Amino acid sequence: LTEPHLLLAVDGVTVDFDGFKALNGFSLTIDRGSLRVVIGPNGAGKSTLCDTIIGRVRATDGRVVFKGEDITQLPEFEIVRRGICRKFQTPGVLPSLSVLDNLLIAAQKDRRWWRSFGVAEAVEEREKVDEILETIGLADRSHILAGELAHGEKQWLEIGMVVATDADLLLLDEPTAGMGPAETSRTADLIRGLQGRHAVLVIDHDMSFIEQLNGRVTVMHMGQFLKEGSVAEIRKDPEVAAVYLGR
Ligand code: ADP
Ligand code: MG
Repeated sequence: LTEPHLLLAVDGVTVDFDGFKALNGFSLTIDRGSLRVVIGPNGAGKSTLCDTIIGRVRATDGRVVFKGEDITQLPEFEIVRRGICRKFQTPGVLPSLSVLDNLLIAAQKDRRWWRSFGVAEAVEEREKVDEILETIGLADRSHILAGELAHGEKQWLEIGMVVATDADLLLLDEPTAGMGPAETSRTADLIRGLQGRHAVLVIDHDMSFIEQLNGRVTVMHMGQFLKEGSVAEIRKDPEVAAVYLGR
């Protein structure tokens, strides 16, 4: 688990909530700069997987290794500092600040903002943030208050905020929640474009979105690994169809 191309290894992780195993000996590896999609029916343990990687939920067995270092017992802020950033299912933007300021704050790794409660110091991050504004398609909306954005735009802003942290691993839990087909397509384009610079772990269950992402897919079921393969392989797998598509 210390090979240089390997960014993250979830190694036989079990999460036991008072006798209920939300994760049960689950393993997964993610290479640097790669895109991984994790799917599975409701309750499969997908969000618990994210929570465990980022240190919000503790593994009761197994370990999580990031850049060759065992991070299983580290507090969340230490894990974030090492280069993992998570986007939640619901948009977590700061509604009373502009789109631009949301990104500038996210780009400030040392959190000076929390002390000064202003964004004037963040000028050096401006170039990076301008590039992200283009990527997320909000360049001409940068001075609008984040709270006034449409739902899909808020989701893109939050993806932009995750990108702005320069994390090596981005965890995106259902980034297309509440989106229509056109917005979903744009989100797939956006996420595909992040590969290389970042490794991305996407959790979702919208099949058309997963097809557009075209990354390697891992299927979870009842806290356990079920299958791994290309979207096409997963789509025609009878075992996956049985548990995931409910056929
Ligand atoms: P998914 O994201 O795949 O829908 P989750 O990881 O949210 O699934 O949940 C997996 C299972 O673990 C579910 O049955 C859920 O009810 C249970 N679970 C999640 N968090 C807790 C918790 N803090 N305490 C007890 N059970 C939990
Ligand atoms: Mg979930």
